[in-house]
Amino acid sequence: MATKRWIPETLFEALGFRMSYAVERVLYEMQTEHQHLVLFDHKFFGKMLMLDGATQVTTRDEFIYHEMMTHVPILAHGRAREVLIVGGGDCGIAEEVLKHKSVARLTQVEIDASVVEFSKEHFREFTRPVLGNKRFDLVIDDGMNFVAETDRRFDVIIVDSTDPQGPGKVLFTRKFYAACKRCMTAGGVMVTQNGVPFLQPAELVASVGHFRKLFADGGCYVASIPTYVGGHMAMGWASDNARLRAVPVKTIAERYKRAGRFPTRYWTPEVHCAAFALPRFIAEAIAKR
Ligand code: SAM
Repeated sequence: MATKRWIPETLFEALGFRMSYAVERVLYEMQTEHQHLVLFDHKFFGKMLMLDGATQVTTRDEFIYHEMMTHVPILAHGRAREVLIVGGGDCGIAEEVLKHKSVARLTQVEIDASVVEFSKEHFREFTRPVLGNKRFDLVIDDGMNFVAETDRRFDVIIVDSTDPQGPGKVLFTRKFYAACKRCMTAGGVMVTQNGVPFLQPAELVASVGHFRKLFADGGCYVASIPTYVGGHMAMGWASDNARLRAVPVKTIAERYKRAGRFPTRYWTPEVHCAAFALPRFIAEAIAKR
């Protein structure tokens, strides 16, 4: 009987640990121009996508990250018409953004066309409602170039990037965040994939430090995603409108009602507001020095 292949997540090898996933079937594997990509079937988590040894998305728990990276900034903002996603290859975030009928235009800037191409076949639940949508634009480019050169302005920017390694490294720099600020409308908000603070504290502390140099308000909110191991996942938050982070739950609920109360499995108005209540170790790590 053939021995089962186990695929390791190597993101935390420097910390002396790794997770391995038993592979039911490899659906797709290639070295793209930018990164190593493998998609496989797992008996519990379903389809799992890994880029450069880091889990990106699984069909079993994708809803948590995708809902929290989307509905929190859009409903906190309250009047988002122009939205930009940097990264977001699999289109899971885009699918959630387009549930907001008030969003007139969504632009996704992804560096690796292969990720979108293969998602058309393997993540149809995300790509189908997105790629044919007339409110959606896809740009294949390095997010750093796009935000540095575009003359468009965005109410909400969602940075759904890989970790600060390889092509994703530049997306954690002050230069990138400053360029994002340049193409935001007044009072706009930016949220970022910012790692797991218990295992990757330096990443979050550095990003929040940059946010506070560039914006009136910088911080993060949290959610727990089973395959982003290590406890809370941090989502960076930056805006010149410091009130957006504290919009009352009643107002968020009213905005959700106006947005048509589309179905969610993790996000609720209460979870939205509670996500900004940080555990002390995270609050102290990012505390103003
Ligand atoms: N949710 C995942 C996570 O938290 O790790 C990220 C999902 S998404 C697949 C990440 C995407 O960012 C990938 O498709 C990758 O190609 C893209 N990406 C990485 N660096 C980029 C850059 N500099 N500009 C634009 N897209 C980039």
